[in-house]
Parts: sequence; C-alpha cells; structure tokens
Amino acid sequence: MKITNAKFHTSAVSVENCPPSELPEFAFIGRSNVGKSSLLNMLCRHKGLAKVSQKPGHTRLINFFVINGEWTLVDLPGYGYAKAAKSERYRFNDFVADYLESREELSHVFVLIDSRHSPMKNDLEFVSWLIEIGVPFSLVFTKSDKLRKGKIEANKTAFLDAMKEFSEGEPPTFITSAENGDGRAEILRFIGEKLRSGI
Ligand code: GDP
Repeated sequence: MKITNAKFHTSAVSVENCPPSELPEFAFIGRSNVGKSSLLNMLCRHKGLAKVSQKPGHTRLINFFVINGEWTLVDLPGYGYAKAAKSERYRFNDFVADYLESREELSHVFVLIDSRHSPMKNDLEFVSWLIEIGVPFSLVFTKSDKLRKGKIEANKTAFLDAMKEFSEGEPPTFITSAENGDGRAEILRFIGEKLRSGI
C-alpha cells in the first residue's frame, strides 16, 4: 500500500469523544519512549505527523489520523505514564482500556517493543491482556538500527518464548527502524492485506 494522504483528524480524551467513523482502525501502542511517534512519522513519511516526544508523558490523548481516506491510524498514549491499575485492567488510563475493549472500528493493534531489551514484564502483561479481551495484534520491534541482527532476533525469540506462558499461537512480528525505514513496507503491506480481506 502506498500512503498518498495522511491527515490529522482529531484527538479524544474519552471513548464517547472518539470520532464516529466507518473506517477500520489500526492502533499503535507501546511503553513511553519506545519510538512510537518516530515510527508513525516514518510510516507516513511525514516528519511532523506524530510529535516525537521531548517531554515524555506529555500526550495522554488518543490521536486519529485518516490515511488515504481509507483507514484510520490511531496513536494511543504510551503505557509508562498511565494512571495506576484498576484491579484487572492493565496499567494505562481507563480511557485506553475502554478504547481497546469497546471500539467497534478497531481492526488491529500494533504493540511496539524496544528491540534492545529482553522481554519486559509490562509488555508481556499488556499482550496477555490483549489476548484475554480478544483483540488481534502484532508485535513491532523498534529501533533495530541500534543493534546487531543476531541480538534483535534473540530478543524477539525470547519475547515469543515468554508469551508461550499464556498464548498458543504466535502473533505476526515486524522489525523496524525509524532511522532507515526498515519494516515500513512490511507493515504497510500487512495493513493493505487486512483492508483487502475486509477485516
Ligand atoms: P515515543 O515516546 O514512543 O513516541 O518515542 P519517540 O518516537 O519520541 O522516540 C523516543 C526516542 O528514541 C527519540 O529520541 C527518538 O529519536 C529515538 N528513536 C525512535 N525511533 C528510533 C529508531 O528507530 N532508531 C533510533 N536510532 N532512534 C530512535
């Protein structure tokens, strides 16, 4: 898929606030500083689309971008700066949990993982919760330019192994770099295929 048009649509602070839409939504989420804004800008080839955070935790809004008038890219707040957990919910604000649990338009979630780290508890907990609520997702290992291929593969395998504790299948995975554009074509192809198959 080629992105010919990427337009900021709106921000929302609650699910009631989310724009009515008939377009399928592809959401991106990860720990703060995982490289989400950089990845979104890289995907859309639009430097200022999502703000690369100087002040971590600054954005707690859900941002909606309409792509090619065909689908919506949803930029979810990073989980590092979320409010404390409610018993069974994951540790981000209730609004994000509400969005993930109830948004009809949501087609797929890309969970960003920093490829430099061995599996982190909060990433695993989040993914486990997504499985529990039945939301389809992929894993995106970011900042791949920062380390050797062998090390990235090792961290990815370790994450998938850790997931076996609570999951039978393996999700699709992508390895990306906002620096050199790695993974861009693969993610866009994946979204294109989902759109064609009418998910
Ligand atoms: P966010 O908080 O998840 O939106 O993360 P940002 O996109 O703001 O990135 C956090 C920091 O990591 C910034 O200093 C970015 O320049 C840097 N960064 C993000 N993606 C990459 C990448 O793919 N490669 C490298 N080398 N640095 C990155």
